[in-house]
Amino acid sequence: MTTVKEIIGEMSTPSPEDIALVENAYEYSKKAHGGQTRYSGEPYFTHPAATAKILAEYGMDATTIAAGLLHDAVEDGCISRADVEKEFGKDLLFIVDGVTKLGTHKYRGAERHAESLRRLLVATASDIRVLIVKLADRKHNMQTLKHVPEHKRRRIALETLEIYAPIADRLGIGKMKNILEDLAFPFVDPDAATHVAEVRKLKTKETEDGLAKVQKELKQQLAKKGLTTFRTDIRMKGLWSLHQKLRRKHDDINLIHDIAALRVIVPTIEDCYATLGTVHALYKPLPGEFKDYIAFPKPNGYQSLHTTVVTPEAGIVEIQIRTEEMHRRAQFGIASHMSYKQLREKVGKLEEKAQKSRFSSLSFSWVR
Ligand code: MN
Repeated sequence: MTTVKEIIGEMSTPSPEDIALVENAYEYSKKAHGGQTRYSGEPYFTHPAATAKILAEYGMDATTIAAGLLHDAVEDGCISRADVEKEFGKDLLFIVDGVTKLGTHKYRGAERHAESLRRLLVATASDIRVLIVKLADRKHNMQTLKHVPEHKRRRIALETLEIYAPIADRLGIGKMKNILEDLAFPFVDPDAATHVAEVRKLKTKETEDGLAKVQKELKQQLAKKGLTTFRTDIRMKGLWSLHQKLRRKHDDINLIHDIAALRVIVPTIEDCYATLGTVHALYKPLPGEFKDYIAFPKPNGYQSLHTTVVTPEAGIVEIQIRTEEMHRRAQFGIASHMSYKQLREKVGKLEEKAQKSRFSSLSFSWVR
């Protein structure tokens, strides 16, 4: 069972009021769900507690975390909306109500309805915090989906793939998108999931040693240019997105060059372009594969430089170059470590940018 200490431990610089709010909501929800159990046989409260911890990990504020603790308490627990409002205020009740409303719209599996349902959910949510609580709720439900009766699993997994992962993507929460997809994939198509996992495993072994050499070589070259405060990591493509790409490439793994990508995370934007220069001086880039998402961010706000190069050590490799700030945003999205007010301003700016950008295919008005 997730403890309240663990939840608070994930929060960044909580005030005494924040801590008191989360502790209060924790005890309140525990009581409200007293005696209820999950399909797994565990106490029901394990679910809202886990949801709240996910929200804390994603940098959400105390009110949103408390709403995560209480998100099922009115519907499934034995407390009234008036109780919640009296104890925790209108703002928190608004989020809980929103999450409950989202739950009434269910995906029934017709692909042509997916986009309209996504739009309906976003419109219903009307507040980005509602969506983020719902995504955290869904993440924990997917983590425990194997306990749910078999005939329900597929629908829930499909809904996760078709509705919630794309919503996470559009909010720019890349980390959540990949996690949701890879949790759902085995329930939607078990054989394909096993196959793709095996393919990726083989390819990982092959590229890991090579990438380690590339990493070393690049570090030396960057150090020569005076760039020493950077870090690199290797990211593996998610199983579901690899599956999608394999289908487009006629199941030929050798046509996919971004199964493993090398990430270089540097302090400033200037460093990004300097690093790109070093990379291209060291390895020949593939023509047409360079993308400058710093000058031209994706509509969801994603920024990075992407290039694909030919290395003697690891063959064709995708290299992603970004700042710490861009890295954090790519993982946690516009929700990352921001107050609600900052968030609203940010969404406003993104919307403005999206409208100006010739690359924009998406309006941000629905994120509001
Ligand atoms: Mn729930």
